[in-house]
Amino acid sequence: MKSLEEILAFNEKFVENKDYEAFITDKFPDKRMVILSCMDTRLVELLPKAMNIRNGDVKIIKTAGAVVSHPFGSVMRSIMVAIYELKADEVYVIGHHDCGMSAVSVDKMVEKMKERNVSPEIFSTLEHSGIDIEAWLRGFKDVSESVQNSVEVIKNHPLMPGDVNVHGLVIDPATGKLDVVVDGSKNK
Ligand SMILES: [Zn+2]
Repeated sequence: MKSLEEILAFNEKFVENKDYEAFITDKFPDKRMVILSCMDTRLVELLPKAMNIRNGDVKIIKTAGAVVSHPFGSVMRSIMVAIYELKADEVYVIGHHDCGMSAVSVDKMVEKMKERNVSPEIFSTLEHSGIDIEAWLRGFKDVSESVQNSVEVIKNHPLMPGDVNVHGLVIDPATGKLDVVVDGSKNK
């Protein structure tokens, strides 16, 4: 795989030249925030820059669509660890306009899986094991609504401490402009 070779060659120089020194920090977020955002490529550098976030400032969790799809899945677990173990005391759910998860067609994705030789029997086996592929892959129609839902899941989680603010925002992936959907410091 070519990209792995390129990465390793770059990495050797990076470490050799001590380029890491500009990033030295510890594991505790200086701004005591945990952010759940989307894995979208446009947000890799834009989101931290648009929020004045630097290395060491925050915990960032990324998923497709910035969605908490299960209250006891790995995203929620990461949020819990950030709060209880790493001293985060504010949660930001940040979706974005033009999100790939708002355009996901489950049928088409299943078709692509079949084209790439996932056997059709697999789907019936999963179905019989109680796994709802459709619900698992499904995206959302409205990003603000989706952010609001995830905020609710986090805020109302039975293991969530009451003193943590949970905010919901939507970012523009072109300009970095943030719009507030839920201000977690209000209506507590
Ligand atoms: Zn997205």
